[in-house]
Amino acid sequence: MSKKVLVSGGAGFIGSHIVDRLTKRTDLDSIVVVDNFWTGVRENLEHISDPRLHLVESDVETFATDMRFDEVIHLASPASPPWYMREPVRTIKANLMGALNCVDKLVPGGRISFASTSEVYGDPLITPQPESYRGQVDCTGPRSSYDESKRCTESLLFELRRTSDIDLRVVRLFNVYGPRTRPDDGRAVSNFLSQALTNGELTVYGDGLQSRSWGYVDDIVDALERYFWADSIAYPGPLNVGNDEEIPVIDIARYIVKLVPGARLAMCPPIPQDPTNRRPDLTLCRQILPGWHANINYEDGIARTLKWFADKVTKGARTDAPSPVRLADGGSAQEEVTNAQS
Ligand code: NAD
Ligand code: UDP
Repeated sequence: MSKKVLVSGGAGFIGSHIVDRLTKRTDLDSIVVVDNFWTGVRENLEHISDPRLHLVESDVETFATDMRFDEVIHLASPASPPWYMREPVRTIKANLMGALNCVDKLVPGGRISFASTSEVYGDPLITPQPESYRGQVDCTGPRSSYDESKRCTESLLFELRRTSDIDLRVVRLFNVYGPRTRPDDGRAVSNFLSQALTNGELTVYGDGLQSRSWGYVDDIVDALERYFWADSIAYPGPLNVGNDEEIPVIDIARYIVKLVPGARLAMCPPIPQDPTNRRPDLTLCRQILPGWHANINYEDGIARTLKWFADKVTKGARTDAPSPVRLADGGSAQEEVTNAQS
C-alpha cells in the first residue's frame, strides 16, 4: 500500500537532506513538506523533480489539510541559538504546537518522528550523556525557549503514546553541520566558514575550550533514515544520535584557519550559559541501529562543507527572498495542500 509522509521544516538544513532520502523510497505516493521559510529556503529543495513532492508554505502549527499521513517527521524549529533567541515564542510554538498539529494529521496508529536535541541535557554534569541523564537546564535562561520546548514536546509525545495509538520515534541530535546550512545561520561551523571566506575573522566565544560533538549531516541522516523508516523497530526513543568524537570549539576554528588562507581567530566575550561540554553516549544507538556509526571525522566533514560554502559565496549566497521552487506537479487532491510549483 502506498503511504503518505509529511515533513515539517523540510526546507531546512537537515529537513532537505531527509527529503532527498524520502524520494528514494518506492512505498510513498505523497511527500508533503510544510515550511514557513523562517530559517529554511526553497532553494534547498529546488534540485528535486519528484512529482510526489508537494511544498506547502505554512506555519506547521496552523497547517490545515484533510489529508492524513502514515508518517510525520517533525523538524520545524530553528536550531541556531541566535535565531531561536531572537524569536523565542515562535520557537516554542513551532516545536510544541507544531507537534500537536502534526499528531492530528496522522492516520490511526501512524508514526511521528521528532528531532529533539542534546540541549535537553543543558550544561551536563556527566560525560558522555546517556539518554537516562535528566540534564541541567535553566527553565528561564537564554536558551530556554529551545531547550524547554524540546523537553516539553518530548513529554507531550511520550504521554500521547501512553494514552493513544501513535508509533513514536524521538531522536536527540547532537551538533550537526554540513552543506545547506544557511551562511547566516550563526552556528559554529557555518559561521566560521562564512567568516573565513568573507572578512576572515572567526569569532570564537570565550576561551573556545567549550566542546561539542560534531556530526556530519550525511552520517546523521543515515541514522535518521534507519530509525525513522524502519517498521521493525519498536523503541520509541529517546535515542542519542551524533558523532561521539568531542572537540573543543577552538580546535574547529584553528582547523578552518589552516584551510583558508588569510583566516584568523577573533577572540570574543563568552556568551551567557554556553554549555561547557556535550558528548553522546551511543550505547543505545548501537543496539537500536546495529551497524550504524558516524564515519566522517571533523576534518573531512569540514573540508566538504567548506567546498559547498565556497561555492555559495562565489555565487553570492541568497539567504532570503527565495525564487519560486521548481517542483514537478503531482496534483494533490487536497485543496489546502497546494503544490508550490509556479
Ligand atoms: P533549520 O533551521 O535549518 O531548519 C528548520 C526548518 O524549520 C526551516 O526550514 C524553517 O523554515 C522551518 N520552520 C521553523 N519554524 C517553523 C514553523 N513554525 N512552521 C513551519 N516551518 C518552520 O534547522 P536544522 O538544523 O535543519 O534542524 C532541524 C531540526 O533538527 C530542528 O527541529 C532542530 O531543533 C533539530 N536539531 C538540529 C540540530 C543541528 O545541529 N542541526 C541539533 C539538534 C536538533
Ligand atoms: N561558537 C563560537 N563562535 C561562533 C558560533 C559559535 O565560538 O561564531 C561556539 C558557541 O559559543 C558554542 C559552540 O560554538 O560553544 C557551538 O555553538 P553552536 O551555536 O554551533 O551550537 P550550540 O551552542 O547550540 O551547541
